[in-house]
Amino acid sequence: MTEIRKQITRLRAELPEGVALCAVSKFHPVEALREAYDAGQRTFGESRVQELLEKIPQLPADISWHFIGHLQTNKVRQLIGRTAMIESVDSERLLALIDRESEKAGVITRVLMQLHVAAEETKFGFTPQELEDYFANRRFESLRATHICGVMGMATNTDDTDRISSDFRQIADTFRRIRTEIAPDLRGFDTISMGMSDDYPLAIAEGSTLVRIGSTIFGARQY
Ligand SMILES: *Cc1c(COP(=O)(O)O)cnc(C)c1O
Repeated sequence: MTEIRKQITRLRAELPEGVALCAVSKFHPVEALREAYDAGQRTFGESRVQELLEKIPQLPADISWHFIGHLQTNKVRQLIGRTAMIESVDSERLLALIDRESEKAGVITRVLMQLHVAAEETKFGFTPQELEDYFANRRFESLRATHICGVMGMATNTDDTDRISSDFRQIADTFRRIRTEIAPDLRGFDTISMGMSDDYPLAIAEGSTLVRIGSTIFGARQY
C-alpha cells in the first residue's frame, strides 16, 4: 500500500461518523491526488485559484473541490461554478461578490463563513461578534445565489492544547448560537470545518463536522 492510501484508509477508519474528510492537496502534484482518489477520497481542498483550475481538468469529474485559501476579489469570477464549496469567505465584500458572480453565472455557490479566533493577526475572517451581528441583522437574506452552509476556522498555531481546544470551542459555540438562537430558520446551516493534521482530534472533540487534513496524507509540502 502506498503511504497516501494508507493514511486515507487509516483516517477513514478513525474519523467518527458525521465527520467528513477534506484532503488538502495544495502544492502536491496531480499524481498524489490520483492516489488519494483511487483510495476512495472524493473531497479535496486547494488554496490557490490558479493551481485549482490547473488540477480540475486533469482529474475525475466526480471530485468535490473545496477552496480553502484567502480568495482575492479579482479571482472570484474564475472560481465560480468550479467548486463544491468555498470554505474561506472572510468578508462581506467577498460574499457579495461571490453572490453577484454566482447569480450572473446561473449557479448556487455553497460557502462557509471563516471565523477568526486565533491569536495570529495574519489569519483572515470574521470575529465571532461580527458574524453573530451579520446573522442577527439578517443580512444573509439579501443573498440570491449563495448558500451559507456553516463556518470554518483555525486554532492558534501553538503547542498549548488548552488554547487550541478553547479556540475550537469558540468556533463551535458561535456556530451553535447562530443556529439555535440567532437564525434558527436558516436552512442547511450544518457544517463546522475545523481541524488540520496537527490538531484534528481536538477539533473533533469540540464538534467539528469537517476536517481539512493535508500533510498527514500527502507528506510535507514543497513550496
Ligand atoms: C493547508 C491548510 C490545511 C491543511 O494543513 P495540514 O497541516 O497540512 O493538515 C487546512 N486548512 C487550511 C485553511 C489550510 O490552508
